[in-house]
Amino acid sequence: MALTEFDIIRQFFMSESFAADHPHLVKGPGDDAAILSLPDDHDLLVSVDTLNESVHFLPDAEPSLLAARCLAVNVSDLAAMGASPLGFTLALSLPQVSLSWLQAFSEGLAKAALDADCPLIGGDTTRGPLSITIQVHGMVPRGQALLRSGASAGDAVYVTGTLGDAAAALWWMQGDSRFAAQGMSNAEEQYLLDAFYQPASRIAVGKALRGIASAALDLSDGLASDLRHILKASSVSGARIDSGQLPVSELLKQRVSRSDQIELAMGGGDDYELCVCIPPARIREAEATLAALQVPFTRIGQLSNDPEMMVIASDGSTMNLKATGYHHFQSHSS
Ligand code: ADP
Ligand code: MG
Repeated sequence: MALTEFDIIRQFFMSESFAADHPHLVKGPGDDAAILSLPDDHDLLVSVDTLNESVHFLPDAEPSLLAARCLAVNVSDLAAMGASPLGFTLALSLPQVSLSWLQAFSEGLAKAALDADCPLIGGDTTRGPLSITIQVHGMVPRGQALLRSGASAGDAVYVTGTLGDAAAALWWMQGDSRFAAQGMSNAEEQYLLDAFYQPASRIAVGKALRGIASAALDLSDGLASDLRHILKASSVSGARIDSGQLPVSELLKQRVSRSDQIELAMGGGDDYELCVCIPPARIREAEATLAALQVPFTRIGQLSNDPEMMVIASDGSTMNLKATGYHHFQSHSS
């Protein structure tokens, strides 16, 4: 017997594993709308992202990993603002009802929701090409959200984690010859899958840098492209990025050329690490805060009055950037 929309919702998105227990959630899925109750002195933050098959993920993507990634990319936006998650809605468009796909997807989603402390609070389920839209809600103490604006020339530029791993994972998955895939160990394969599908949550980082960072965003399109958003929003003309300081993983060092490492670190998207600007007077505090969280936090350069962003090579010369990030609706993208 075919499942109705309501059967699907009940069986896969309102099951025990989604039993939401969150201090600010009054009513989750099941009524006409979810109810969240915020403390008086907090701001509500809202962000939405859509992931479409063949545009944002490969058609054969494993559904539980895909679910984890869909939530992670949204929670990352909250992290970049210094917010705590409150809950998310899920608008799911499905070409057909595949029980095994739905089972794996909902299990992956439930686990990711638990890990992020971000419960599923409602959604919409329709028929159509596979498309997953998640809207996250979060909160910050009033006025304390980290914005893209607020940075000044002279502020240090930091990133969390390592850069380029997710883009390298795509090269690997697509058999790109720039990635030397011979003799990959299971651990290396797992590392790449995690980098692409389960980027680390940086919620704790964003919260800890409230009141310290002058600007922040999460890296979705690639550092070169994303840092320009901070420059524009902060009305700063330039930046100097030291290519020798770009944090790249051991795996990248072993499996792609040095110039491709820089290319991936500057231009590769999908890392969902944070890029943070720190005024000189707050650097010591910021570094101590991140050390206490045990999150890799690397100073890669500083904002400047140069006419544009520059990447400085080890010999002091200025490097040319081929890739400047992934953009939709440009001729080279799908
Ligand atoms: P309405 O027709 O009133 O908009 P729906 O029939 O779309 O309501 O949804 C019924 C309930 O199920 C709502 O509470 C909605 O939030 C929830 N819901 C629908 N789809 C999903 C989903 N994919 N995940 C979680 N909750 C969902
Ligand atoms: Mg209704």
